[in-house]
Amino acid sequence: MNTFNTVTLSILSDLEDIVGTINIITDKEQLFPYSHDEVPGKKYRAFPDVVVKPASAEEVAAVMKIAHVHHLPVTPRGAGTGLAGGAVPVYGGIVLSLERMDRILDYDLANLTITVEPGVITKTINERLARDNLFYPGYPMSKESCSVGGNVATNAGGGHAVKYGVTGRYVLGLEVVLPTGEIMQIGGKRVKDVTGYNLVSLLVGSEGTLAVITTVCSGNIMPFFG
Ligand SMILES: Cc1cc2nc3c(=O)[nH]c(=O)nc-3n(C[C@H](O)[C@H](O)[C@H](O)COP(=O)(O)OP(=O)(O)OC[C@H]3O[C@@H](n4cnc5c(N)ncnc54)[C@H](O)[C@@H]3O)c2cc1C
Repeated sequence: MNTFNTVTLSILSDLEDIVGTINIITDKEQLFPYSHDEVPGKKYRAFPDVVVKPASAEEVAAVMKIAHVHHLPVTPRGAGTGLAGGAVPVYGGIVLSLERMDRILDYDLANLTITVEPGVITKTINERLARDNLFYPGYPMSKESCSVGGNVATNAGGGHAVKYGVTGRYVLGLEVVLPTGEIMQIGGKRVKDVTGYNLVSLLVGSEGTLAVITTVCSGNIMPFFG
């Protein structure tokens, strides 16, 4: 049974204060693309009350705090290319679309790491690395349209998986926002950032059920052998 609350006009106004009116969707027609992923069929669709598009971890945190206080369901969404219905807001509430968080934050050639926001389209990473004759092999075959946050959340793997492994193998660190709105850094850019519980592995493949991924640091990127 769905025991969650729905988004009221007053909550909507609070959400608008955080991300700006332009980054909020409530119009039914415009909500449609956010009511499904790539799984076809009406029974795999559900409409949210609202789509919210934050631009930073701080904005994500503020949205999560509101959702927590008002007991609203939140469904994180990358590019919506999933084939398991994970981004479908089955309980309504808020779809938290990470599409505006699409910057490459740091590219460290000497240490073979790249740190990105979750909304970066996966092929963008390889386009950047190719200039240095490197590549990041952990991507799924939807790399032209999926996002890095979605790849981590599903632990995706594609054509290179047998030889090089899946996404999780390349994740060194994450910044995440917890359901109560705290921002947390786990793991890190250095290979030896492994003190304590291995929360990076817990978050990889968690499909948006534990936290919202707001930064991904990938390491171990490879020389391109042609
Ligand atoms: C043509 C095609 C080919 C594909 N090939 C492959 C393949 O080879 N291998 C493979 O594994 N998959 C494949 N997929 C499935 C899909 O592309 C991958 O699962 C991809 O990783 C999903 O990324 P996305 O950004 O679209 O995520 P979405 O579909 O938006 O979301 C997927 C899940 O991740 C969660 N999520 C998304 N972003 C975040 C975030 N920032 N924080 C927390 N949770 C988040 C969502 O809540 C949801 O549960 C394919 C899909 C298509 C359409």
